[in-house]
Amino acid sequence: DTPLADVSHARVTEVSSGLCRVATGDTTLLCSLKGTLKAAETGYSNVVAVGDHVVVTETGNGDGLVEEILPRRNVLARPDPAAPHLQQILAANLDQLLIVGAWRNPHSWFELVDRCLSTAERHGITPLLCVNKVDLAEPDDDIDAVLAPYTDLGYRVVQTSAEQGIGITPLRLHLHSQVTVVAGLSGVGKSSLLSAVQPGFNLKTGETNADREQGRHTTTQALMLPFADGYVVDTPGIKEFGLAGLDASELIAYYPDLLGAAMHCKFADCTHTHEPDCAVREQVFAGELSATRYKSYQAIRVSLGG
Ligand code: GDP
Ligand code: ZN
Repeated sequence: DTPLADVSHARVTEVSSGLCRVATGDTTLLCSLKGTLKAAETGYSNVVAVGDHVVVTETGNGDGLVEEILPRRNVLARPDPAAPHLQQILAANLDQLLIVGAWRNPHSWFELVDRCLSTAERHGITPLLCVNKVDLAEPDDDIDAVLAPYTDLGYRVVQTSAEQGIGITPLRLHLHSQVTVVAGLSGVGKSSLLSAVQPGFNLKTGETNADREQGRHTTTQALMLPFADGYVVDTPGIKEFGLAGLDASELIAYYPDLLGAAMHCKFADCTHTHEPDCAVREQVFAGELSATRYKSYQAIRVSLGG
């Protein structure tokens, strides 16, 4: 067995039960996991995740063995559908979370955007907010004003139209040589945007690579695809990811804009949903805080059971 010299470039790009695909400098290996690698007592249900840096040994015929998983810089995780007391890592070692919403069709994206922002903050992953389909804005729509709560907080925001080629260059600059997870409801234009950034790229055809054609299937949980000198990670389970294990009372901490007011509520344990003398609600009603941000706070709070 020959250990690969450059383990810094051995990166897991696809995972299924017991098998994973590892991209090294110039090749891809289909790897099994060394028997001593166990998920037990890590709090996670999976041993290896997309994005992991690993030490691999080549075993021939394009196969390999994962010997070691190197420490992770960060992870995106969600409750494991099969074992709710454990978390399932969706992806690891990420540079940024690209959160895509559509200005219209579908328009109801604020809650998901805010959920993803909280997730990014919580996991130490830099968010990048993209509002697509700006070509569908009505003359009276003030996109800048709607996005002000986000830009005021210092978030990077790009306005795009995949259809009309608006904002594609700034988006490309943000994605260049980064490992980016793409989040967003189905239909907001994620695939269209990525193929606008990199013509020919198709988010949904990770399945048609040569290995698959040769019948070496791995059942994909998340997929990491080479993109713009970096990678994009396409992962299911976006809705619930990241907020697992978050106590409803902690949610406000991920709303830096609401947090200032929350210090002035009458009750120390104010939930900012119904209490009298709630400074958050007062400032929202007075128009001093964003009503859409507050609405998403309420909705997420309910979903967290409080
Ligand atoms: P995904 O599910 O997020 O990957 O979304 P798709 O990229 O498949 O796009 C969903 C639909 O929205 C398709 O019919 C696209 O043609 C359309 N679409 C994508 N981007 C834009 C845009 O910027 N403007 C408009 N008007 N339609 C778009
Ligand atoms: Zn309050």
